[in-house]
Amino acid sequence: MAVTPQTNTTLEEIAEALLKCDHVCICGHVSPDGDCIGSQLALRAALVQLGKDVRVLLAADAPLERSFACLPGADELVPVEAFDGRCEVFVQVDAPDAKRIGEAAAALRAQAPFTITVDHHAVDRRETDLSYTDPDAASTSMLVWELAGHLEVDRSGDVAACAYTGLMTDTGRFQYQNADLRAFRAACEMVEAGADAAALSAEFFQRRTLASIQLEGCAIANMRLLCDGQAAVSFVTQREMAEAGAVKSDCEQLINVLRSIDGVRIAAMLRDEGVHVRGSFRSKDGTDVAAMARRFGGGGHAAAAGFTLHEPLDKARHTVEKAVCKALGCREGA
Ligand code: 5GP
Ligand code: MN
Repeated sequence: MAVTPQTNTTLEEIAEALLKCDHVCICGHVSPDGDCIGSQLALRAALVQLGKDVRVLLAADAPLERSFACLPGADELVPVEAFDGRCEVFVQVDAPDAKRIGEAAAALRAQAPFTITVDHHAVDRRETDLSYTDPDAASTSMLVWELAGHLEVDRSGDVAACAYTGLMTDTGRFQYQNADLRAFRAACEMVEAGADAAALSAEFFQRRTLASIQLEGCAIANMRLLCDGQAAVSFVTQREMAEAGAVKSDCEQLINVLRSIDGVRIAAMLRDEGVHVRGSFRSKDGTDVAAMARRFGGGGHAAAAGFTLHEPLDKARHTVEKAVCKALGCREGA
């Protein structure tokens, strides 16, 4: 359990701090994933048992993947902009910095009397009063699970289901490099406490939209294999998104197709958003794609990272292809 040097507290201390507050805001990152929402809702489920006024906030006002609706407390998620309650303590989960929580949440955080981070993304700065970051944890929701233990609430049922969702999604259903013994042990505890692994898996992985399937066709058609097939780079355009009737969340699984190709070591997927291009990196060979993403102002984990490029799609493709080739030590894309 190696925490970052920026960590200045323990989960016990965070539990103690939370026990002293009545009005708690829990925020995640922009483009929330299963770990982000799962962590928020797991912590919410723990704190409501203690009679706290808990608000779960969305960093951006964008439609959520429909699978999240099955999680207890999902109907309470509101965009930060719509929040007008009291925020005695601002807790950010699965998000290391102001950039990841977005401007509106950062503004709310700046006004909060006390601030806390619980995360597994390593960064070199601490932005909140208390900060606990464990990059060895497969998911932030595992840390929230532990935190709920220190709060001494009943973790069976809602807390378990939400925490399990974060762990299941961030490990790619226990397939990625982060699916280690500790992750399986935590999963065991959650299942023991009532998380329905099969039902949650079906909810999150067997309900793909037709739009996402159509986009997968586009991503495959647009794909370029570089460096003798060691890298796969692809994109979807705004037009392809519109024609498919797709929303952002329909793009989430596309990178997995690129990564799954035999021989591919690094995969990169780009999504044109008009004013900028959003990108995802994945690696299968230990290449630190978070370091690559950081060069573009993004970040994430060694094997899965994201970034935003403020340039047109054509240029962004070139930028990314160059970076990928450089990382693989081949001269293509130069
Ligand atoms: P994804 O490619 O699924 O959007 O993100 C992969 C991982 O990288 C996730 O852990 C996510 O939180 C992180 N990540 C994605 N985009 C960014 C970004 O722009 N900045 C930082 N710091 N992390 C990101
Ligand atoms: Mn996460």
